[in-house]
Amino acid sequence: MSRRRKRKTEYERFMKKVRLPTEPDGCWLWLGAITSSGHGTFRVWDTTKEKWKVRSAHKYSYLHHNGSMKQPWLHIRHTCDVRHCVNPKHLIEGTRSDNMKDMMERGRGKMQFEAKKDECPF
Ligand SMILES: [Zn+2]
Repeated sequence: MSRRRKRKTEYERFMKKVRLPTEPDGCWLWLGAITSSGHGTFRVWDTTKEKWKVRSAHKYSYLHHNGSMKQPWLHIRHTCDVRHCVNPKHLIEGTRSDNMKDMMERGRGKMQFEAKKDECPF
């Protein structure tokens, strides 16, 4: 019996797609697939359904390092504003409106809001 063919763990596979930063608290940049919204994706094998499923790379990283989400209905947000960053230290749980607030504060959502001024829903 040979045990030489050691299979890589899922997390080892994950880390192969990450470019680690040169500075200690820099962003971990995702080198794998990226969605049109700019987030990294990572395929994991679902053992119960026996098929691949696609996960958000940053969410995978967050769950790996934190075990679970404190509030599963929340989004995982980036404190660094780099969408394909998967550094668990840069990831926090937040609501959708937190996301919007961040965008407003950073001026990123400004254009969209100005464009929608004429179609007030009230
Ligand atoms: Zn980052």
